[in-house]
Amino acid sequence: MTTPNSPADLSAFWMPFTANRDFKASPRLLASASGMHYQDVNGRQILDGTAGLWCVALGHAQPKVVKAVQDMVAKLDFAPTFQMGHPAAFELAERLKKYTSDKFSKVFYTNSGSESVDTALKMAIAYHRARGDGTRTRLIGRERGYHGVGFGGISVGGLSNNRKFFGSLLTGVDHLPHTHNLEQNAYSKGQPEWGGHLADDLERIVALHDASNIAAVIVEPISGSAGVFIPPKGYLKRLREICTKHGILLIFDEVITGFGRLGTPFAFDYFDVEPDIVTTAKALTNGTVPMGAVFAKQHIYDTFMDGPAGIEFFHGYTYSGHPIACAAGLATLDVFENEGVLDHAKSMTGYWEDAVHSLKGLPHVIDIRTIGLIAGIELAPRAGQPGARAFEAFKRAFEDGILIRVTGDIIAMSPPLVLEKTHIDELVGKLATILKTLN
Ligand code: PMP
Repeated sequence: MTTPNSPADLSAFWMPFTANRDFKASPRLLASASGMHYQDVNGRQILDGTAGLWCVALGHAQPKVVKAVQDMVAKLDFAPTFQMGHPAAFELAERLKKYTSDKFSKVFYTNSGSESVDTALKMAIAYHRARGDGTRTRLIGRERGYHGVGFGGISVGGLSNNRKFFGSLLTGVDHLPHTHNLEQNAYSKGQPEWGGHLADDLERIVALHDASNIAAVIVEPISGSAGVFIPPKGYLKRLREICTKHGILLIFDEVITGFGRLGTPFAFDYFDVEPDIVTTAKALTNGTVPMGAVFAKQHIYDTFMDGPAGIEFFHGYTYSGHPIACAAGLATLDVFENEGVLDHAKSMTGYWEDAVHSLKGLPHVIDIRTIGLIAGIELAPRAGQPGARAFEAFKRAFEDGILIRVTGDIIAMSPPLVLEKTHIDELVGKLATILKTLN
């Protein structure tokens, strides 16, 4: 493998979610990773403040996960899961079921968060149809929601940039209002006080369309990619109540919150609100191999099985339950269960929260939001250049040896759960220096 060393070497790869022209002028190339750090092609250590893209919960190159992947690739490189299967796929499903405290007894495999979302939306619509409720097809998402990049996901998602270039999208979609409110909730620690009542907007949408036409509501318990928006107190419970009242399925998109981000296995544990369907991906395999999984309640599965003969959920992917991904998933769960990862994550959250909130008062900072091992730091946008200030902070951070993530003018951090206080000090200390000198 050669290291690209001229702009021409970088020209063939059309990079996703990247300012491609800008990148070629100052490329950031990662060569290896271990524990809390990446190493770039120039040998510089970069402290990972984002767990890759929210996925490397256990730290990089986790030895047990690496070994499991190596063993499986040599043993069973690929096996279809259409009309046949392999033991690891069943074993992982069983383990995942237990990891949900048996609240979700069915696991449907995908390869990514986007696929999990589209799978969940299709599952919800097909479920109603299998029950003879075929008019229940409408979907409800939320403004500023992020649900991946499939057509289903961008339709229920509520971020303009993800939608506006791609035509008319799915029909029959409504959006709840977002819950972000700087006037009421700035500098929140944990769940903001104000805004639980915003869930009541669901009643307005139900009144408009009638419940008999609505299949599902999908929300991220905490939205991460859009800039760390934490549900106000009472909000998720209220959504659950309204969905139950009207026979609407509630889908939690736990692609980033699943697997320990809040110190509990899932956000639905943390918030004590049970959805009907859960989408996951990312930390399911510690990010080592692409994989997603959708968890469904038993009654959803039973509806298909008990319905008219021949009604199955006609859906799946070539790589659903790929053996190597299953091996990575099993090893990831072993580490979660046997190495006290959740307890460690919980023990770090107080220090994390205080450290991140110490950035209050620095230039440009207009809000800080924290929960679990997640932080959002919102900067005032530069006049006429939305996003430019945070993007500069991101580039400077990389040069200074820390990896942060930015979306618009919001800095998001979600470090591996295995971090120590010294990592928090370095991350927040370097960020403070950058913020002090940012234009
Ligand atoms: N849903 C949520 C809540 C996400 O945060 C993401 C990715 N950040 C996705 C879906 C899409 O996942 P993927 O990029 O694996 O398709």
